[in-house]
Amino acid sequence: MHDNAPADVHEQTFPFFEESSPQTEPSLTSDAAAGGPAVVQLELFGMTTGPIADTASPKPAWADFIREPPGKKSPSTVPSPAGRPAARFAAVGSLDELRVLAQNCRACPLRDGCRGVVFGEGGPAAKLMLIGEGPGAVEDELGRPFVGPAGQLLNRILSAAGFEREEVYITNVVMCRPPDNRVPAPAEVEACFPFLARKIELIHPEVIVSLGATSLQALLGTNARITRLRGKWLEYRGIALMPTFHPAALLRDPAKKRPVWEDFQAVAARLGRRPASLSSTPG
Ligand code: SF4
Repeated sequence: MHDNAPADVHEQTFPFFEESSPQTEPSLTSDAAAGGPAVVQLELFGMTTGPIADTASPKPAWADFIREPPGKKSPSTVPSPAGRPAARFAAVGSLDELRVLAQNCRACPLRDGCRGVVFGEGGPAAKLMLIGEGPGAVEDELGRPFVGPAGQLLNRILSAAGFEREEVYITNVVMCRPPDNRVPAPAEVEACFPFLARKIELIHPEVIVSLGATSLQALLGTNARITRLRGKWLEYRGIALMPTFHPAALLRDPAKKRPVWEDFQAVAARLGRRPASLSSTPG
């Protein structure tokens, strides 16, 4: 899943996100006077949103996960071919140093088919780190992550969740664009992973959001399934990890908008944010 969806997909579906809530969406409008939880209607990428997660809940979000039936592996026990320390770059002390190394990297064939390395961008001490799959055509051309249609949607999600894009760190599993936007091969993920692992170590965010299956599996191993783990608080080397769908998937499948928004609400709550549009909510 790349940062930018194919143009034809974008043209067919992106305007949908400008529309008001579908009639089939249940109304979440309520107010404290009605005796219910304080919620608002917020037009977020074309959907009506629900209340921010209750951080005071005694039941953590991952509780359901660890109570899975016996025999199912928890993420912490899933073999993680890539989830090891960034030993290769342990001596690299800054993102700027790592960027220079990345720009000269030829560790996998992807570099031969792209214009340049899309390293990532954002605050070096960001509390929130977003990890996608790989650069798309627009990202390859501009040298920045998530600046295509999916990136524009991600910007809107972040803004609605109360984050400025500049304060989060955004990168991808592979930094060179795979040809025809194909999914990066395991060997390519493996080759690029030490860069990602060292970025995580240097930034040491409070929360990582993995966007899509490739990102989740790079962090937790190839047995990790996005459809099963999406929306559950997990952990990557002591850092809270929230798996969610890739924004490009939302451009193709509007049904994924609601779960992604719920996931970002949970992230906002964990980081003490209130989505900007909730600031005027009574109560
Ligand atoms: S994708 Fe990563 S490992 Fe492969 S050449 Fe680019 S920077 Fe190096």
